[in-house]
Amino acid sequence: MIIKHMKGEIYMDRGVDPDKYICHRCSNDMKRYFYKYHSAYHGTDVVYCLKCVNIGRSDSVTPLRVIHTARKPEPCRYHLDFELSEAQQAASDRIVEALSAHSDMLLYAVTGAGKTEIVFEAISLARRRGMNVAFVSPRIDVVKEVHLRLSGAFRDSDIDLLYTGVKETFEHRFTVCTVHQLYNYIDHFGLIIVDETDAFPMSSDRQLLNAVRRAAAASSTTVLMTATPDRGMIEFAGAENVVTLTRRYHGHDLAIPKVVWQGITKDVNRRRLPAGLEGLITGILEKGRRVLVFVPEISLMEKLQPLVAAKFPGADSVYSGDEERYGKVDSMRNGRTRVLLTTTILERGVTFKNLDVIVVGAETFNSDSLVQICGRTGRKTDDPVGNIWFLAEYNTGHIRRTIRIIKNFNAGRTTL
Ligand SMILES: [Zn+2]
Repeated sequence: MIIKHMKGEIYMDRGVDPDKYICHRCSNDMKRYFYKYHSAYHGTDVVYCLKCVNIGRSDSVTPLRVIHTARKPEPCRYHLDFELSEAQQAASDRIVEALSAHSDMLLYAVTGAGKTEIVFEAISLARRRGMNVAFVSPRIDVVKEVHLRLSGAFRDSDIDLLYTGVKETFEHRFTVCTVHQLYNYIDHFGLIIVDETDAFPMSSDRQLLNAVRRAAAASSTTVLMTATPDRGMIEFAGAENVVTLTRRYHGHDLAIPKVVWQGITKDVNRRRLPAGLEGLITGILEKGRRVLVFVPEISLMEKLQPLVAAKFPGADSVYSGDEERYGKVDSMRNGRTRVLLTTTILERGVTFKNLDVIVVGAETFNSDSLVQICGRTGRKTDDPVGNIWFLAEYNTGHIRRTIRIIKNFNAGRTTL
């Protein structure tokens, strides 16, 4: 079933129970996430849910309507430019088995393992059997990138793309969307793949977990994919259903970050480009490479960017609310920009050639973020390693854990 605003049969008389403060669409039951006002038009108080308002309002005066969809198999052929590695193939087989057994799965894979391609066969099989498929991620950037890749591979399939404000829908049979969009589906998908699961607090945000569970059909498979699993994810899939991939698709080791003990805020506040940072960028550019400089806060980035650009003309910066964000990323991709300062918005979902990475204020990042950031380098077969520097004022558990996770991957071990 799919929840639709204006059409379909009534599923619930109202979207929100105004007495108990429960949203029937997203199952939010925390009173502080509801808003109440008096509506002269309705002649009564109206309560609406703030948790899911960005996919359309669920309130106490409007019924929730649903439409039913019939299952429809399709041949669902796909095209891959390369052959899966032995490890990728083994992981792909496990997911196909899980699909037949209707069990869930956790794909614990190093960044750059080629996770997306590993689920192609399961997607194809699910669609051949008439199951609806959803590929979801908490991040809009990832959703867009994945939609492009899937559309390129599954050329005969109509693939929906859904995220806040954007809807490209066919028949909701093969859907790529943000996790929040799942609030609109009930008992619908036979296969749900959650990419970058660590980017939202799956274990602590019950609503999102509920959304995945409720959107899944009675007999279904949910595949969680992550480079940094937590206990909640393992519990979700079941410890016996964890598949690990410690090698990148091209087989090379991950670069180990080099830590430079240097804070930069003092210099930046005096409007000086920190010498250590300048030296690193100079070295990178001299080798004909390009660099992403990760900065913990927008306010610091705004001060740092002009200092970097004064020394390295063309150095740009990007953050999540930046309207020119996609143009700037393109510019980095085609090499017009060679130094790009960024917040964690580019920590995942992007691939640039000949890329090195510098993290300033590394002591303020958590290890999930740091692992993803390191994963930006060495993603291409013709540039399989790359360099990573952490500029940190002091050591932290997260820095140590990041280095341990990466060393373990290189040794073929996982960090659980
Ligand atoms: Zn809601």
